[in-house]
Amino acid sequence: MNMDTVVQCVCGHRIGLNQLLAHGFVMVGDEPVHVYLKYRCAECGYEGLELLDYDKWNAMIKEPEPDSDEAIELKRLGPIDAGEILQFAQGLATVTDSEFSDLHSNRA
Ligand SMILES: [Zn+2]
Repeated sequence: MNMDTVVQCVCGHRIGLNQLLAHGFVMVGDEPVHVYLKYRCAECGYEGLELLDYDKWNAMIKEPEPDSDEAIELKRLGPIDAGEILQFAQGLATVTDSEFSDLHSNRA
Protein backbone atom coordinates (compact mmCIF):
# COMPACT_ATOMS: atom_id res chain seq x y z
CA MET A 1 0.00 0.00 0.00
CA ASN A 2 1.31 3.40 -0.92
CA MET A 3 0.93 5.67 2.08
CA ASP A 4 2.72 8.45 0.26
CA THR A 5 -0.38 9.68 -1.55
CA VAL A 6 -2.21 12.27 0.49
CA VAL A 7 -4.41 14.00 -2.07
CA GLN A 8 -5.39 13.58 -5.69
CA CYS A 9 -5.14 16.44 -8.16
CA VAL A 10 -8.09 17.48 -10.35
CA CYS A 11 -6.19 15.85 -13.25
CA GLY A 12 -6.05 12.54 -11.39
CA HIS A 13 -2.35 12.72 -10.50
CA ARG A 14 -1.59 11.56 -7.00
CA ILE A 15 0.10 14.10 -4.76
CA GLY A 16 2.56 12.75 -2.19
CA LEU A 17 3.70 14.27 1.06
CA ASN A 18 6.88 15.50 -0.57
CA GLN A 19 4.90 17.52 -3.15
CA LEU A 20 3.01 19.54 -0.56
CA LEU A 21 3.90 23.23 -0.57
CA ALA A 22 2.45 23.83 2.87
CA HIS A 23 0.11 22.39 5.41
CA GLY A 24 -1.43 23.59 8.62
CA PHE A 25 -4.07 22.77 11.14
CA VAL A 26 -7.53 24.21 11.57
CA MET A 27 -8.14 24.41 15.28
CA VAL A 28 -11.41 24.36 17.14
CA GLY A 29 -10.52 25.40 20.65
CA ASP A 30 -7.39 23.42 21.46
CA GLU A 31 -8.22 20.56 19.14
CA PRO A 32 -7.04 20.27 15.54
CA VAL A 33 -10.02 19.12 13.49
CA HIS A 34 -8.86 19.63 9.92
CA VAL A 35 -5.61 19.90 8.04
CA TYR A 36 -5.15 22.25 5.12
CA LEU A 37 -2.85 20.96 2.42
CA LYS A 38 -1.51 23.19 -0.32
CA TYR A 39 0.02 21.40 -3.25
CA ARG A 40 1.32 21.91 -6.74
CA CYS A 41 0.71 19.09 -9.15
CA ALA A 42 3.89 17.86 -10.87
CA GLU A 43 1.78 16.58 -13.76
CA CYS A 44 -0.34 19.59 -14.75
CA GLY A 45 1.04 22.40 -12.59
CA TYR A 46 -2.30 22.98 -10.88
CA GLU A 47 -2.09 24.56 -7.44
CA GLY A 48 -4.75 23.34 -5.11
CA LEU A 49 -5.91 23.33 -1.55
CA GLU A 50 -7.32 20.29 0.17
CA LEU A 51 -9.00 19.98 3.52
CA LEU A 52 -8.51 16.66 5.28
CA ASP A 53 -9.88 15.35 8.53
CA TYR A 54 -7.18 15.62 11.15
CA ASP A 55 -7.62 11.97 12.10
CA LYS A 56 -7.00 10.90 8.53
CA TRP A 57 -3.89 13.08 8.28
CA ASN A 58 -2.64 11.89 11.64
CA ALA A 59 -3.02 8.27 10.59
CA MET A 60 -1.12 8.96 7.38
CA ILE A 61 1.89 10.68 8.88
CA LYS A 62 2.23 8.02 11.55
CA GLU A 63 2.45 5.28 8.94
CA PRO A 64 5.68 5.96 7.03
CA GLU A 65 8.18 3.13 7.03
CA PRO A 66 11.28 3.88 9.13
CA ASP A 67 13.60 4.16 6.14
CA SER A 68 11.18 5.87 3.78
CA ASP A 69 11.82 9.31 2.34
CA GLU A 70 8.75 10.54 4.20
CA ALA A 71 10.07 9.49 7.59
CA ILE A 72 13.44 11.10 6.94
CA GLU A 73 11.82 14.24 5.63
CA LEU A 74 9.50 14.53 8.62
CA LYS A 75 12.42 14.19 10.98
CA ARG A 76 14.41 16.78 9.07
CA LEU A 77 11.55 19.30 9.07
CA GLY A 78 10.89 18.92 12.77
CA PRO A 79 8.00 20.60 14.48
CA ILE A 80 6.28 23.56 12.87
CA ASP A 81 7.57 26.77 14.40
CA ALA A 82 5.61 29.86 15.35
CA GLY A 83 6.61 31.71 12.19
CA GLU A 84 5.19 28.97 10.01
CA ILE A 85 1.97 28.91 11.99
CA LEU A 86 1.63 32.67 11.64
CA GLN A 87 2.34 32.45 7.93
CA PHE A 88 -0.25 29.75 7.56
CA ALA A 89 -2.82 31.63 9.61
CA GLN A 90 -2.41 34.61 7.30
CA GLY A 91 -2.90 32.38 4.29
CA LEU A 92 -5.82 30.64 5.89
CA ALA A 93 -7.68 33.88 6.49
CA THR A 94 -8.41 34.31 2.80
CA VAL A 95 -9.26 30.63 2.31
CA THR A 96 -11.70 30.30 5.15
CA ASP A 97 -13.69 33.35 4.06
CA SER A 98 -14.85 31.71 0.87
CA GLU A 99 -14.87 28.11 2.04
CA PHE A 100 -16.76 28.85 5.20
CA SER A 101 -19.31 30.98 3.40
CA ASP A 102 -19.84 27.97 1.13
CA LEU A 103 -20.47 25.86 4.19
CA HIS A 104 -22.98 28.36 5.51
CA SER A 105 -24.78 28.60 2.20
CA ASN A 106 -25.16 24.82 2.18
CA ARG A 107 -27.15 24.92 5.37
CA ALA A 108 -30.90 24.66 5.09
ZN1 LIG B 1 -2.67 17.71 -11.86
